[in-house]
Amino acid sequence: MRLWVLFLMSSWFYNNRHLYPANWQEIRAQILQRDGHKCKWCGVPNGSIGYRDEAGCFHLWDGVVGEIFDDCGYKVIKIMLTIAHLGAPMPDGSAGDKMNKMDCRDENLAALCQKCHLAYDVDEHKYNSAITRRLKKVAAGQLEMRL
Ligand SMILES: [Zn+2]
Repeated sequence: MRLWVLFLMSSWFYNNRHLYPANWQEIRAQILQRDGHKCKWCGVPNGSIGYRDEAGCFHLWDGVVGEIFDDCGYKVIKIMLTIAHLGAPMPDGSAGDKMNKMDCRDENLAALCQKCHLAYDVDEHKYNSAITRRLKKVAAGQLEMRL
């Protein structure tokens, strides 16, 4: 993974840390341990280095992270597990909310690789991107007009 991606991820967490419980790092470590330091959904080990093929299958490789090693354009990546909020149903049967980062029930959290986490949160990422684009326009002086 490129350094700027790590920077953006840590920067995002820094700016949104108020959404998470104060002991989030402790919870995160517990979930990583519970899930055996592997992606709960696809099983890829945390910290492993390799590439994904066209089907999305991960293959270990001893290359340098960021290197493109053949004509297919496969890029060598490092797996960095993050903790996903799944939006598991509440004990009373009501719907869970994956946007609620304070809901740290065991069944609501899973260690996921970048690919699985991104696929699960694609709606959230689209929503955040739209807000960011809008804020940039407003900051650039393109104020919104109310009709
Ligand atoms: Zn995965």
